[in-house]
Amino acid sequence: MKKYLKNIMAGTMVFAMAAALAGCGSNEPAPAEDGGEKVEDAGTLIMATNAEFPPYEFHEGGEIVGIDAEVAAAIAEKLGMGFQIEDMAFDSIIPAVTSGKASFGMAGMTVTEERLQNVDFSDSYATGVQVVIVKEGSAIATVDDLFAEGANNLVGVQTGTTGDIYATGDIEDEGLGTIERFNKGADAVLALTQDKIDCVIIDNEPAKEFVAANEGLVILDTAYAEEDYAICFAKDSELTEQVNGALKELIADGTVQSIIDKYINAE
Ligand code: GLN
Repeated sequence: MKKYLKNIMAGTMVFAMAAALAGCGSNEPAPAEDGGEKVEDAGTLIMATNAEFPPYEFHEGGEIVGIDAEVAAAIAEKLGMGFQIEDMAFDSIIPAVTSGKASFGMAGMTVTEERLQNVDFSDSYATGVQVVIVKEGSAIATVDDLFAEGANNLVGVQTGTTGDIYATGDIEDEGLGTIERFNKGADAVLALTQDKIDCVIIDNEPAKEFVAANEGLVILDTAYAEEDYAICFAKDSELTEQVNGALKELIADGTVQSIIDKYINAE
């Protein structure tokens, strides 16, 4: 029985759609207040993200690009709205959305029951897998080794991600190791190359990019957890229905797949 292999999506769309249907009011995003200052112009979608997560969002030539950035821009275009990206720490995204500083969060973000307590999610537009990166020849040969009796590893994660949440529950809380939290996945990978930690738990697509960019690292064949990515919104935001409607159309007409192919499958 692998208690750590999670498929946490089941049933979540029902919540998100019920919330979307319950939303009502004007079609304009509500202007948000921050210390009395208007931070969101009506008609501009502000996407909160953490642009350290290739190929979903990353910096390239002074710009933030990636699958999420392009899908969100296509949504804004379909809705005839302006579009802006706010880059922040991953664990600041949900607070930015719930406080109204951002219209939505899009960051390869996994739908989880805990997050659904605070935000609503769109339909899922991509899937992810939590994987384990080790140094070649590591004593950790399979995911099961992390949970073996007497295991005592230093496990790197990005703060506030599902990798952090699972590893904390399955490893740290079980006395099977210590979690080292980093602001960026790339920093965790750097620490691994420097032998400061024993492995990194992170989403598979960024993992592939980090392994390709660093000599001597491998991704274990066995997956830790399978996940669904979706866009998050403040609860009961009228934007949920609008943005999700545009997303559905972009999924149906193949736009989302062609953006994913451009960044992943075509490589
Ligand atoms: N999918 C993971 C999560 O939602 C990681 C996302 C990220 O680091 N951008 O927690």
